[in-house]
Amino acid sequence: MDYGMIGKIEKAHRYALEPQRITLSALTVEIRGDNNTYTVSLAESGWTCSCAGFEAHGLCPHIMALEKVLHPMLKRPASPYGHGQSVVSDVEKAGRYSHETDRIRFKSFDASFSGENSTHQMSYRDGEWGCDCDFFHSRKVCSHTMAMERIVSGMVSVVTPLIHY
Ligand SMILES: [Zn+2]
Ligand SMILES: [Zn+2]
Repeated sequence: MDYGMIGKIEKAHRYALEPQRITLSALTVEIRGDNNTYTVSLAESGWTCSCAGFEAHGLCPHIMALEKVLHPMLKRPASPYGHGQSVVSDVEKAGRYSHETDRIRFKSFDASFSGENSTHQMSYRDGEWGCDCDFFHSRKVCSHTMAMERIVSGMVSVVTPLIHY
């Protein structure tokens, strides 16, 4: 492995301890509940989930779990409880799901990454990573994507299997 790559890996290790550098602007994940798997999306207009609880109350344990897991990367206030929502049981489920991150699988996201020198745009689509930095352009990985792979490890496809964390 070359020195350029080694430097990026070291940087990714530092960045992975600073998830607040990342701002998720949009995402789609699949989350496995106790009975079914649901699709949760975040867009500029807010959260949506394919479950019946979201349809009825505008908030559900799947979104609440993601708000916990992704908290430093969301930069938006937690959603208020919905009218008629079963708060006690939904809080319990959200707490449990947030500790069982193997339930969560990213389909896609868009994020900005505030690096030490400049801010970059990073993306993920069905296992394909993207970043607008020069290093990614030539190598198809960079300190930004490697840091994110580590932060959401188990929830995304990893493209840097040579790297032992
Ligand atoms: Zn839901
Ligand atoms: Zn990058």
